[in-house]
Amino acid sequence: MHQNRKSEAVREQPECGLCGETKKLMMTDCCDRWICDDEDSYVLFSYARNSCFRNHRSYTLCGGHHAEGHSGDWKTCKKCLKNIEPEMYVHFGTNEYNFEVLENPPEYEPTKCHECGKVIVMSEGGYSSGPKGYSCWDCSAKSLPADIRKFL
Ligand SMILES: [Zn+2]
Ligand SMILES: [Zn+2]
Ligand SMILES: [Zn+2]
Ligand SMILES: [Zn+2]
Repeated sequence: MHQNRKSEAVREQPECGLCGETKKLMMTDCCDRWICDDEDSYVLFSYARNSCFRNHRSYTLCGGHHAEGHSGDWKTCKKCLKNIEPEMYVHFGTNEYNFEVLENPPEYEPTKCHECGKVIVMSEGGYSSGPKGYSCWDCSAKSLPADIRKFL
């Protein structure tokens, strides 16, 4: 009997699909990929985006789709498409925290400040939203009371 045992011996070393790290890995719940088991290195309220696990779970459609309990593939999920602002949908579906990115991200109108017309890059933050629409940081700051503005 000839059995080829060689293929078992050269098992591939698993590595994090995002950064290539090979130590302290875990499987993602959402897509069964190897990822750094690094959530404990996250400093609470620091807003640091240094955890592969957290980045994938919080800043991708894959993670959000799974957390919301949607069924099927996130890339074709109608609920995700409908629930998320198009600009953020594209950002979450194509950023570097994804193992796979959207092949045909939908087109979207750039978000503009309703006061001055400046294009707001939502994924970079620095805007506020109100009943009339989005305001860029400058316009948001202008509407603040003067005694708060001097601290900015
Ligand atoms: Zn990693
Ligand atoms: Zn995933
Ligand atoms: Zn979904
Ligand atoms: Zn503005």
